[in-house]
Amino acid sequence: MRNYRLAAIPGDGIGNEVIEAGLEVLKAVATRDGAFSLEIENFDWGTDHYIEHGAMMPDEGLEKLRPFDAIYFGSAGDPRVSDHISLWGLRLAICQSFDQYANVRPSRLLPGINGPLRDAAPEDLDWVIVRENTEGEYSGAGGRVHRGHIAEVGMDVSVFTRTGVERIQRFALELARSRPRKLLTLVTKSNAQRHGMVMWDEIFEEVKADYPEVETDKMLVDAMTTRMVLDPRSIDTVVATNLHADVLSDLAAALSGSMGIAPTGNINPKGKYPSMFEPIHGSAFDIMGKGIANPLGAFWSASMLLEHLGETAAAAVLMHTLERYAAAGQSMPRDLGGEATTREVTDTILQLIEGRNI
Ligand code: NAD
Ligand code: MN
Repeated sequence: MRNYRLAAIPGDGIGNEVIEAGLEVLKAVATRDGAFSLEIENFDWGTDHYIEHGAMMPDEGLEKLRPFDAIYFGSAGDPRVSDHISLWGLRLAICQSFDQYANVRPSRLLPGINGPLRDAAPEDLDWVIVRENTEGEYSGAGGRVHRGHIAEVGMDVSVFTRTGVERIQRFALELARSRPRKLLTLVTKSNAQRHGMVMWDEIFEEVKADYPEVETDKMLVDAMTTRMVLDPRSIDTVVATNLHADVLSDLAAALSGSMGIAPTGNINPKGKYPSMFEPIHGSAFDIMGKGIANPLGAFWSASMLLEHLGETAAAAVLMHTLERYAAAGQSMPRDLGGEATTREVTDTILQLIEGRNI
């Protein structure tokens, strides 16, 4: 029997609630499949660890994660500590150190879910946003000068490298080619930002020539937001910088029903390091500890994790389960208009995985 080692990092806030539920679902899918097993190690890193030890994870944290087949992540962020400390100390440290340069963010309007786009049908909204995940606006370059004085300066420098841009664009072109529409939209802001963004456009012209099967177009990021709302059907695969794709994918999540649904994979395509899967939402301070977080984003991320491991049958079982659940429209969480708690949603999904009717 194939065995996979998973590192679970629930992190902070509702990350704990949804990853606990997600691990139950992953184990149920593995049991049902019967051809593989999961060996899960839990890491209690996050803001509690920071408050106790002064760091979000131990010094040897990355070394510990390295041998795992994949990482299942919740969220980093807690009201007791500044967000830039919690984010850089855990999630960004892992993404950048493990060269998880492709952040893949699918959005679909599942059957039965009413998103804010009036009259949209599931076939109108089926996108994958590919986010550059190691550099750009989140390079960490910059600084603060004259702190606290009237002359204070704060600088965040976007760093775009030819290697970084070319590899994410090729990844997106390949992903677009593997999808039925074979359509890729490049999103930049090269009218206003005339250096790095223009380089993105130029490199795209070069690399897309290697993918003649893929139809491409280009949009400025501001115009892209309106196209997502007004003409969702015209979009399939999208590639954009770290910041732009971060923003666009939150919009995509909301349009597909809720922040609580959307999944993501932080992929190291060559497999030199483990890849990391997580719901795209954060710690949700307003609902943490209440047991009402929507776990669907964590479940969908678990399906992406299984797909990445090569367990395509199990990944499809889980995805079909989520579709059946959404279509049935029973026991929906609050953010999707229902009353169900995290526990109740999880139990319904577990029943469906075990082949029982709901
Ligand atoms: P958020 O995603 O935590 O919450 C935004 C809104 O969406 C809130 O109203 C929340 O209740 C709702 N929401 C999110 N997930 C939900 C779910 N599963 N079910 C139901 N409702 C859900 O974003 P925020 O409020 O901007 O950030 C809160 C904290 O999380 C901050 O510390 C931030 O830095 C952190 N954060 C971390 C990550 C990450 O680790 N990947 C991502 C985003 C935000
Ligand atoms: Mn985000």
